[in-house]
Amino acid sequence: MEFEPVIGLEIHVQMDTKTKLFCSCPVEFGAEPNRNTCPVCLGLPGSLPVLNKKAVELATRAALALNCRINTRSIFARKNYFYPDLPKGYQISQYEEPLAVEGWLEVEGKRVRIRRLHIEEDAGKNLHEGSRTFVDLNRAGTPLMEIVTEPDIDSPQMAKEFLEKLRSIMRYAGVSRADMEKGQLRCDINLSIRPKGSKELGTRVEIKNVNSFKFVQKAIESEMERQTKLLLSGEKVVQETRTFDPSTGLTHPMRSKEEAEDYRYFPEPDLLPLILSPNWVEEIRKGMPELPEQRLERFLKEYGLEEYSAKVLTENKELGDFFEESLNHYGEEPRLTANWLLNDLLGQLAEWGKDIESSPVSTESLAELVRLIKEGVLSSKLAKEVLKEMVATGKRPTQVVEEKGLRQVSDEDAIRGLIEQVLQENHREAERFRAGEEKVFGFLVGQVMKKAKGKANPQLVNSLLKRMLTGA
Ligand code: ADP
Ligand code: MG
Ligand code: ZN
Repeated sequence: MEFEPVIGLEIHVQMDTKTKLFCSCPVEFGAEPNRNTCPVCLGLPGSLPVLNKKAVELATRAALALNCRINTRSIFARKNYFYPDLPKGYQISQYEEPLAVEGWLEVEGKRVRIRRLHIEEDAGKNLHEGSRTFVDLNRAGTPLMEIVTEPDIDSPQMAKEFLEKLRSIMRYAGVSRADMEKGQLRCDINLSIRPKGSKELGTRVEIKNVNSFKFVQKAIESEMERQTKLLLSGEKVVQETRTFDPSTGLTHPMRSKEEAEDYRYFPEPDLLPLILSPNWVEEIRKGMPELPEQRLERFLKEYGLEEYSAKVLTENKELGDFFEESLNHYGEEPRLTANWLLNDLLGQLAEWGKDIESSPVSTESLAELVRLIKEGVLSSKLAKEVLKEMVATGKRPTQVVEEKGLRQVSDEDAIRGLIEQVLQENHREAERFRAGEEKVFGFLVGQVMKKAKGKANPQLVNSLLKRMLTGA
């Protein structure tokens, strides 16, 4: 029997605010432990939460970007559990009336429905060292969004693509950097399998906190295999929470349904319902930045790019920004610019273990390079050499051209002089050409290029040589 996976994701995204969700402590990555704390985020008695408006704005922006319906009235709730990194003994979250519902995101031409998007605070961090545990509460109270999808994802690849697209949208919308390595994007996977074509849902397993795109795909593949084996041997999948171990590529049980926590949710008495005025939401909608799909359309129309280039350029916001900024310096050749950026610059950067954000080549330099190519100063072969030097040293293309004498010779008189020399030295070959042996032409071109050390403009060499051979 063949099985197919059914996948739903629960994703936490850390919102890029300057301060925490319910107090004015700064949100900072890598600060000295427990430095950024106050009575509110330490959960001291008598302290009261005050909602961060910026966080509400960012969550609303995210919800709009994900095509959600915004609830203009939502409620904060207490989610009770006991853990050293949660000083209040509960987390302020949203439960029955979340900020937004019923959105969707298209992946591989299919809509993945988004069930809900809500605001909640993060917990602190426990650091285990030998038999001791340290608690760092800098992260306690940091603003998060939780995004829950319907079980509409049907392959490991699609889950990965969903997350990559989500990250891209979060960056475009200015909501979050959503770096998985920094924990700004965290994902729990819900996975069941069922006989191919069946409409019923199987028993699901939840895999907690998988921390890279690659591991998400791997965890799903490995868990699918485990569940398939169970069902084929007549056993049952048990509903439970599991963890993924990247070193073995396997998932392990963490807790079963019986041990599942009962969070005893109830409305947060220290906060009023969150009421958004429709005007405010409308203002945010109007102020929404361009999103990846709109940018893709625009790149196709405005710059006449090929579909593939436009797609790669817009998936990554920084790359798209780099492209457009280069065009601001020199906008005559969008396609040529895209090709040199995608094929050559990125390739060169990769060799140095760099990406576009750490590129020693500026947008101005790339623009200048494209201009030099377009104006015939550099052949594409020479341009590759120049670019290599640019990436290695951060120098401007004109500087590299001057220093290395790489300028392509496009001066007619200079080339004519070289051709004369070649024809004198090879008068027998020239005669053969005149007698109709056309293939000798290539040999003569080669001789001229050799004399020019590869720097002569090939089109010019071709046309001048032909003219001088035939006396036209
Ligand atoms: P809980 O309340 O325990 O978190 P939910 O019903 O809210 O459970 O679902 C949580 C996530 O699990 C959602 O993303 C949902 O799409 C997914 N999910 C629910 N049932 C299944 C299933 N049978 N197989 C795969 N995913 C599922
Ligand atoms: Mg859940
Ligand atoms: Zn605080």
